[in-house]
Amino acid sequence: MESQKEARILQEPVARPPGASRSQTPNAKERQEGGPVPAAAALGAEADDDSADRLWELPVEPAKRRPECSRCSRPQKVCLCPFLPAHPLHISTHLYIIQHPAEENKVLRTVPLLAACLPQDKCKVKIGRRFSEERDPELSTVCRKSGTLILYPGAEAANLEEFILDSPVYPSTIIIIDGTWSQAKDIFYKNSLFRHPKQVQLKTSISSQYVIRMQPTNRCLSTLECAAVALSILEKNNYIQEISGEDMLKITDAYWNNSHI
Ligand SMILES: [Zn+2]
Repeated sequence: MESQKEARILQEPVARPPGASRSQTPNAKERQEGGPVPAAAALGAEADDDSADRLWELPVEPAKRRPECSRCSRPQKVCLCPFLPAHPLHISTHLYIIQHPAEENKVLRTVPLLAACLPQDKCKVKIGRRFSEERDPELSTVCRKSGTLILYPGAEAANLEEFILDSPVYPSTIIIIDGTWSQAKDIFYKNSLFRHPKQVQLKTSISSQYVIRMQPTNRCLSTLECAAVALSILEKNNYIQEISGEDMLKITDAYWNNSHI
């Protein structure tokens, strides 16, 4: 673990020069797509987890930020709201996003866009790497409910589409982890809470324009797309998926057209 002084280096620039990576903490290395297993996880150092969580709570944006749109959290000059549904979509499923702290400060975040598409009471974002009964009793209760699913691929995961056909309890809640593969893996396997919900995955032929252009190495679908596909299956409403698909293309075009701003 590096010192707090070194850690504060992380809060200065939004975009760090390549050479700055030498000063990253072990946890900051998790930001790198396709990087090694997170050092903190490899060490199994629980004591480091608390300090790591505090590190991620440090602001990484400069004090003077460009004015942001209150709905999509993008700089106002490149607001993406015209590409989002005018009103929140009506859904009955509750969505919990477990967001790795590194995702919160990424320049192009998809979770605020997702939150802007859904009713506030149906989309909750929990930021952190470690969750427990004591720290988060609400999430603990959600995880133990029989109608809760967690979206994470693997041999143990059922295909969501097939699962809901036979499920005795129709799913009311789905948990999605927002992060790179290594971050999501760390969160999924290092939190025993996430053993409780039924593990499901998406077997979909949907290709991701967003992935091709934005995430070429380390993710299958963006969190926004995962949520849209999962919700469209759970809500039996292809409109959710279609509107998200269209939006993703428009959003990525708008992003690239304005990325110099
Ligand atoms: Zn906006």
